[in-house]
Amino acid sequence: MGTGDDAASLLRRLNEDYRQYPVTGASGHSYISSEPRATASAPGIPVNLRVVDHIDDSVGEIEREVRASNPGAEPRPKQIDRVYEWYVENTVNSPEADQQRRDTIIVRQRLEHAIAMGDTTVVRPHRCPSCRRLGLMWDDHSHRALCTYGPCRDQGGLARRWTLANLAYEYIAGRKNVRHASAT
Ligand SMILES: [Zn+2]
Repeated sequence: MGTGDDAASLLRRLNEDYRQYPVTGASGHSYISSEPRATASAPGIPVNLRVVDHIDDSVGEIEREVRASNPGAEPRPKQIDRVYEWYVENTVNSPEADQQRRDTIIVRQRLEHAIAMGDTTVVRPHRCPSCRRLGLMWDDHSHRALCTYGPCRDQGGLARRWTLANLAYEYIAGRKNVRHASAT
């Protein structure tokens, strides 16, 4: 999975694959697994409810944000991966802070979708918000990205951990600073 996949294409793939191919094993559904994928979904097997919940939560969050920014927005598009476009279209004239919030949410959801698909490498291109180095690793247990740079420790002496929201915020704030710097 390349890093070029955007939030919309990941959401579409999640939606198509998980609803069609239910997960039955304890190991779950992973795109990076070398195991052959189940080819047929037997009737009566429940779909992967965790992923369906993830998709519903993601779309629900976008819908709430659109309604909050623009109460007159047209109904949500039926095609699930169009929700991000819909979000952008309905906030193009919003204050800059709202647009920054939007961009941050979309980046965070993109990370969440990739991780839901088993691609934890998506955290690697992000810098640690504290030491600014590359070398973040996903920790499934704490559901956070862990800084692997030895001296980068929190007050308790532990490796620093970051939520996907932290990483998305830093990414969008950093992009904005770069744009401002090059404009002057
Ligand atoms: Zn660090």
